[in-house]
Amino acid sequence: MRTPPEMPLGLPFTVDTWGPSRRHRCHRFITHAHTDHIAGAWAGPGDTVYATQLTMRLALERYPQLERVKFVEMEVGKRWVVDDPGGAFSVTAYDANHCAGAVMLLFEGPFGTILHTGDCRLTSHCVQKLLLKLEANLCRLDTVYLDLTFPKFLEFPSKESAIQQVIACISKHSRAPFIYLGCQRLGQEDILKEVSRSFRSKIYVDKGLYLDCFNTLSHTVPEIITDDPTGRFQVLPVRSEELNKIAAEKLEEARASDQPEPLFIRPSAWRYSNAYAQNRKPSLTEAEQDGNVWRVCFSNHSSSNELEQALQLLQPQWVISTTPPNFASELSYVRRRYLSHTTQGHAPSSICFRTTSRGKEDYEYFIRGIPSRGQRSPRVVQIEETWVDHRTFGLSMGVNGYTISKHVINMMGKAIISEQRDAHFLKHVLHSELGKMLQGPSPCRENISNYLSEPNQGFKLENMDAVLVPLLNSKTWYLVVANFWKRRFEVLSPMGCTDELITQAQSIVCNFREDFHSAYPQLHSVKIKDMDITFHTISNSDNESDSGIFIMKALDLYDGEKHIFFNDSDAEGLREHLALYLLHHKYNEMPHRHVQGLVGP
Ligand SMILES: [Zn+2]
Repeated sequence: MRTPPEMPLGLPFTVDTWGPSRRHRCHRFITHAHTDHIAGAWAGPGDTVYATQLTMRLALERYPQLERVKFVEMEVGKRWVVDDPGGAFSVTAYDANHCAGAVMLLFEGPFGTILHTGDCRLTSHCVQKLLLKLEANLCRLDTVYLDLTFPKFLEFPSKESAIQQVIACISKHSRAPFIYLGCQRLGQEDILKEVSRSFRSKIYVDKGLYLDCFNTLSHTVPEIITDDPTGRFQVLPVRSEELNKIAAEKLEEARASDQPEPLFIRPSAWRYSNAYAQNRKPSLTEAEQDGNVWRVCFSNHSSSNELEQALQLLQPQWVISTTPPNFASELSYVRRRYLSHTTQGHAPSSICFRTTSRGKEDYEYFIRGIPSRGQRSPRVVQIEETWVDHRTFGLSMGVNGYTISKHVINMMGKAIISEQRDAHFLKHVLHSELGKMLQGPSPCRENISNYLSEPNQGFKLENMDAVLVPLLNSKTWYLVVANFWKRRFEVLSPMGCTDELITQAQSIVCNFREDFHSAYPQLHSVKIKDMDITFHTISNSDNESDSGIFIMKALDLYDGEKHIFFNDSDAEGLREHLALYLLHHKYNEMPHRHVQGLVGP
């Protein structure tokens, strides 16, 4: 069970995520009722939850606390306009071809055009409908939040073909007195429906043993359920191992009493996705016997061919995976697009980072209050020993074009580290002083090895997914990342990569490798010396004083996968957004003494 990662804070809505940081938002969308998408569902008194009627009924069964919430019923093909203080936006629901009630959502608003697929099986039919809509609105797709459950599995049989394979397998076993269907999840109701129709028979689920499944089927396909336990067709909603066990027992029983053997069928895709890794070649055209159970490849998620075709047609600027671990960069569509960014020089849209009008007032009030030179400048943000004063912070975050101070970059790094406790992707940000030391010759760098080694860190570096090093090259901030998860170094530069920057970054990577190795000589999980180095341009801005702002946000957004890119027009909104982020940070120890009164409560 893998819950989708949280969405960017700049968006006025959430989809399938229920994290604590969502407190400012009130539009919560549920794409479908699989437990990993509604796990922990809750909503505040002012919130609205949007879902199809069936999804909402299924969600309520697990989370009755949603009962009290304002609920908007979505219908496939219908467009809703949602009022929001940050600007109205619209949302249209499309069939996701995933499970009963599942939808994909197309959002259009001040943030651009965003498609959230939830979980989906993208057939050309689904994609055509979306295309028609995009063409009718003359709009380009900015971002797709994409279900990448099986990004490496080239091809699955269509759902219709898989269902026919189940029917054919049953027909071949006409003497079997009982047919046990190992259908465990919501999304397999179409199989049951078609089996029931083809064999003109209802299907039994033991309500006493499998109440959840019984309830789900009573919502999705009530017409095919029977409470007659002698029925030939029965659902066994159990895990694969348990199905094998039950099958072994029942087959043994039949053989012992010389009766015809029952048939066990499990339609699923997981066994097939593993087969790929194990170099097996299972049949995709007919049921295949595996021990006591017959298997059919049935997938509610897209194959990689389907994903590539859909992206080719939809042409989104950005692709973000909703399924950790994040495989977007495995897609050839994404690779091609990514590589072309620097060469084509076109400007992809990105998320709107503007805050609400209330936030804007707070921000302007804070900037107006900057103490003048010589005046006492109180600390405004402090987390443990890292702090920054009003003047330094205000001048960095104002729109007058100052280079961001290293103290502000360090403050941002500290704020991010302090939030790591419950993060999916663990990252550590090095203090800018250490970044500077990394540029020096080896005797000056002993401290770094000491710093990197465990006792001083309070965390295990070998458990980190990435270490981020903010660096200043004359007046331009850039970032060197040791991405342990992807096993490579990445250089992210808002201003492109000049020869000078490339040389500097290469020498830093070289020193980092050496210092890391002396700090962790025994560590075998990370072969730091084998890690390659890649260069990326992360904005189309040519204003070097904005580079620090983009680096601050990049520290926040970095997840080892996502393609970060900023437009020069993002800088202004980001200054507001990041100033307020730090001032209102939950670990800021200063808010009561100085910020309150400057920035409203
Ligand atoms: Zn699902």
